[in-house]
Order: sequence, then C-alpha cells, then structure tokens
Amino acid sequence: MAIKAPEGTRDLLPEEASFWSAFVERAHSIFGNYGYEPIDTPIIEQTELFVRGIGEATDVVSKEMFTAISGENLKRLLEGEKLRAKSRLSLRPEGTAGVVRAAVQHDLVPQGAPPAKLMYAGPMFRAERPQRGRQRQFNQVGVECLGAEDPTIDAEAIIMLMRFFDAVGIKPESIRLLLNSMGCEACRPAYRELVHSYLEEHQDELCETCRIRMEMNPLRAFDCKVETCAALMENAPKITDHLCEGCAKHYGHVKELLDMAGIAYSEDPSLVRGLDYYTRTVFEVQAVSSDSAQNAIGGGGRYDKLAEEVGGRPTPGFGFAIGYDRCVLTLQDQGFAFPAQNHCDVFCASMDDETHLQAFHLAQMIRDNGCSAEIDHQSRSLKSQFKLADKLGARLVVIIGPEEFAQGLVKVRNMDSHEEQLVAIQEALVYIMEQL
Ligand code: AMP
Repeated sequence: MAIKAPEGTRDLLPEEASFWSAFVERAHSIFGNYGYEPIDTPIIEQTELFVRGIGEATDVVSKEMFTAISGENLKRLLEGEKLRAKSRLSLRPEGTAGVVRAAVQHDLVPQGAPPAKLMYAGPMFRAERPQRGRQRQFNQVGVECLGAEDPTIDAEAIIMLMRFFDAVGIKPESIRLLLNSMGCEACRPAYRELVHSYLEEHQDELCETCRIRMEMNPLRAFDCKVETCAALMENAPKITDHLCEGCAKHYGHVKELLDMAGIAYSEDPSLVRGLDYYTRTVFEVQAVSSDSAQNAIGGGGRYDKLAEEVGGRPTPGFGFAIGYDRCVLTLQDQGFAFPAQNHCDVFCASMDDETHLQAFHLAQMIRDNGCSAEIDHQSRSLKSQFKLADKLGARLVVIIGPEEFAQGLVKVRNMDSHEEQLVAIQEALVYIMEQL
C-alpha cells in the first residue's frame, strides 16, 4: 500500500502552501508595524526546556510531547542506559519556551534596553489524539514581547492580533475574544488553595483526570470538557475576586485600553490557559462556529516568571500564538477557498524540435526579466499547448512556428483580447515585456 502522511499531520498542497506563506507575510507586515521582528529557533530543543519552562504538571508536558532521538541514543536507551540531558530532545510543542530560551542565551533584553519584540512562524508538535482542528503537527504564528510589564504591551498585542484576524479575512462576527487575569505569585497560591479545597469538597463528582489535577494543578480543572466537571467549575471560586491590588490594577488597565480601542471582549474567569507559566493577563480568541473542544484559533498571555525558569534574569513577557490550521477551518466555515495561483505570464508554444529549443530559450529570457514563463515539456500538439496555456492563466502565448521562424518572426497572442501580432524574433522579448 502507498505510504501516507502520518496520522495527525497534513500536507499543505501548492495552493494552501502559498496561502500559508501569504499568511506569514501578512503577520510580518502587520506585526512589523508594532515593532515585532522575526526570530527562528530550532524545532528540537532539550526536553528540559519544556519541562522547566512549561511546568511539569501541565498536559503538554505530561503526555503530549514527542521525543526526538538519534538511532544511536535509542539503542543506548533500549540497553538500559540513561541519556544525558543534552541528548534528551523534544519536538517543540509550542513556541514561547524556545524564544525565551534564545532571548536569554543571546541576551536580547539587556538591562535598561527597550522590550524585545519577536515573532515566529512554523510547525509545533503535540502527541494528541488527532481530530478536526487538532493535529500532531500544526503551524503557529506567534509573538513574544520581553522586557516590559506595562499593560500597554498586553493591550497592544491583543489589538494587533484582532487586526491580523481581520486582515486575513476572519470576520469579527465569526470570533469572540475572552479575557481573564490569572494573578501573580503573590495572589495565585492562595487562590489555587481555594480551588483545591473546592475540588476536595466535591471530589466524588470529579472525573478521574480532574482528581489528579486537583493535586497536581487544580486550576486545570477549569479546562475540563467533562460536563459534570464543567458544571461544577461554574460555581468554583473566581480568580478575579481574589486578585491582589497590583494584579487588579493591571487587569483594569488592560481592559480600559481595549475599551478605548473599541475591541469587544468577554471576561471569562474560568479561562486558565493550559501552560503553567502564565501570570496576570490571559486571553483566547475562539471561533464561534466550531465545536467547543477545538475552537481556540489563538491565545496567549503574560508570563513574567518564565525567563527566570529557563535560567535568565527576571524578565517580564507577553505573547500569543495563532493556530494557522484552525484559522483555515474558520475561514472555510465562512465559505473561503484558497486563491488559485497564477503560475504563468507567458506560454511559449512550439511545433518541432528546433522551435522547441527557441521556446526553451525565450522562456528563460522572460524569467530572467522577472516574469513567469512556461513551455511544453511533453511534445503536445499546438492545440493542447493552447489549452495548457489557458489552464495556467497565461496572459500571452508566443507561437514559434517553423514557417514564421524561418523568416525570423514569432507570433504573440494576447489571451484576453485574442489579438495576434507578428514580431521579429530579436524584438520579441522587449515586445513581450511591454505587453505584460
Ligand atoms: P496553545 O499553545 O495551546 O495556546 O495553542 C495556540 C493555538 O494553536 C491554539 O489557539 C490553536 O489554534 C492552535 N493549536 C494548539 N494545539 C493544536 C493542535 N493540536 N492542532 C491544531 N492547532 C492547535
């Protein structure tokens, strides 16, 4: 049987691959206006980065990571040897930890410097059970702003994200923005304890996973999709009622800035993002149309402690990631189709070996002048070369026929107006370029 792409992965065929490039380009252009610069970090990192950086008790770390291993190390492992930290590698499940690691490693945020604003795009890997909108390899575009804790950073990034969704064609009515604050190290521990006690009181009603979460990371119970747990969590203590003064002020300021910018949002005190490193602002953008489990098309928040966790000096941070694949699903729900690509400005048709050689040469000259050109590669008849030219969307077809060619001429046909012009072969290139 023919080999297929692994479960949970998908091929981006040419039209979609072009769309993905345009999606990233658009992000570069919009985020660039806000000062974000590209960064590209490795797809594999030391496992330790994610275990430390994300928090051992989150789902991403406990079961969702792919390990990368060389043949030699696999053999060692099977022989019962322990691998050194350097050899324990994982495929990145998300982008933030790697970017923060790079910022620390290369000192991108020296003391007193303005914040480093970084953006990335590329594949992430999670060993999840694949379903619509949930893959094992998926593309993300994300930003990280390191070195400032001002609420203007949070609000600016959220506004920028909503502008981006608009620019790629996701309609405001197709999505909703949810906002919350997760507090900080001053107020969250007490709140966590409150949730723990609440869960303990109701432990008979909890699913098995939430019983484990109760001990490991009680706030994750807010993410549970089991109906009974979800109902129970509706009455759980709300973090926004337990924020310290600093966090309450920061959160209030973020909301004020969003209000001023006319950004609609709903406050959702049960929004606790999966990763442990978040502090204060967290947010998620959900597609209204998709089913609830896979409806987040982007999200992020503030992580003022992460840089220290990966060995750097205290550096506040804020970031978000956009799930490209889910954006595509949302666009398709709105009736979107990938734009067809116009591959060909000029088709150079030929009729025998000698004119084929001329077509090959002329097409090359057209490409060297910055336009796209195609020729026949399968000894097609002139009629079927025309069909092909049509299919490729060629604007001009140059017909190099043996008789005209013997007189030093070629015929150029405009595919829109159907006008034809005989042109001297030496002037053909100039004429073609003028027509395009
Ligand atoms: P997260 O890092 O989990 O907040 O993910 C950020 C965004 O990436 C989400 O809002 C989703 O749009 C997307 N995403 C996360 N996990 C997956 C997955 N397994 N398959 C496809 N997209 C995903």
